[in-house]
Amino acid sequence: MEKEFVLGLDIGGTYTKLGLVSRKGEILSVRKFPTEAKKPFDDFKKQLESEINALKATVHTDQKILAIGVGAPNANGYSGNMEHAVNFRWGDDVPLVASIKKILDLPVSLTNDANASAVGELQFGMGKGMEHFVVLTLGTGLGSGIISNGELLIGQNGMAGEIGHVNVVPNGRQCNCGLKGCLETYVSVTGMRRTIFELLADMNADSELRTISFEDMTGEIISDAAIKGDAIALKAFEETAEFLGTQMADTAAHLDPEAFILLGGLSKAGDILLNPVKAAMQRNLFHAYKGKVKILMVDRPSNHSVLGAAALGWRAIQV
Ligand SMILES: [Zn+2]
Repeated sequence: MEKEFVLGLDIGGTYTKLGLVSRKGEILSVRKFPTEAKKPFDDFKKQLESEINALKATVHTDQKILAIGVGAPNANGYSGNMEHAVNFRWGDDVPLVASIKKILDLPVSLTNDANASAVGELQFGMGKGMEHFVVLTLGTGLGSGIISNGELLIGQNGMAGEIGHVNVVPNGRQCNCGLKGCLETYVSVTGMRRTIFELLADMNADSELRTISFEDMTGEIISDAAIKGDAIALKAFEETAEFLGTQMADTAAHLDPEAFILLGGLSKAGDILLNPVKAAMQRNLFHAYKGKVKILMVDRPSNHSVLGAAALGWRAIQV
């Protein structure tokens, strides 16, 4: 039986998950509750405290929690705050680390959710043994985390690796961040919905997607339709893959990575996404990298985000 654990906490726009994770990446116990991001932060703190206490109750007297690792949208590890998270009504600078320390006084490490996923892959997943790779999470938005020289790339302000907000179409689609034409507005579940509604207007093809509302259209529904051969869904994947693969070729020119690891809702589509992404990347890749950059795609179980956050906590206390 493992004796030492790190508490991994993943704060998402819809759900918050927390779990106790051993050094080897085994999850002792995990809990999940609605984040209620539109309600005050104080409500969240109260709920979090009772959830942490419930988790602590599962720890035997000879077991110990050593640290806490936290992944959250727009989180800044330098300030310890969540900054300007658009889907949260918690204020512009939310003191996450200070608030968590009040509940459980242990070393707390914080980073944004996609960075936590990258550290999770490095410590426990497909990035084990790799020194240079990029994780892209294709969910509601497009998150990215960069591992360079075996470490998470953080940057001057704690905000390195925002590949979702590089411009791919000058004056293109309006992004939640205030800019126009960001990659995320094309390559994400939300971006694909926008693409599908444009295609539905432009194409005559029969499609089961015609009866589904914008709000109800999930990554799973789009992927299932594509797997069944739906012409609109397939075309949407083709266009999405072109944007993504081209951007990955650009990113390779900056970072010379061994691999890209794709995670999240759209990765359920498998080869329907992967094959055209590979083709678009190869076509646009600088000759020095041709045939050298792997693209790995994983459909992770939902507990994965807790592992990523915990991996961050483990790495912080190992140095
Ligand atoms: Zn943006």
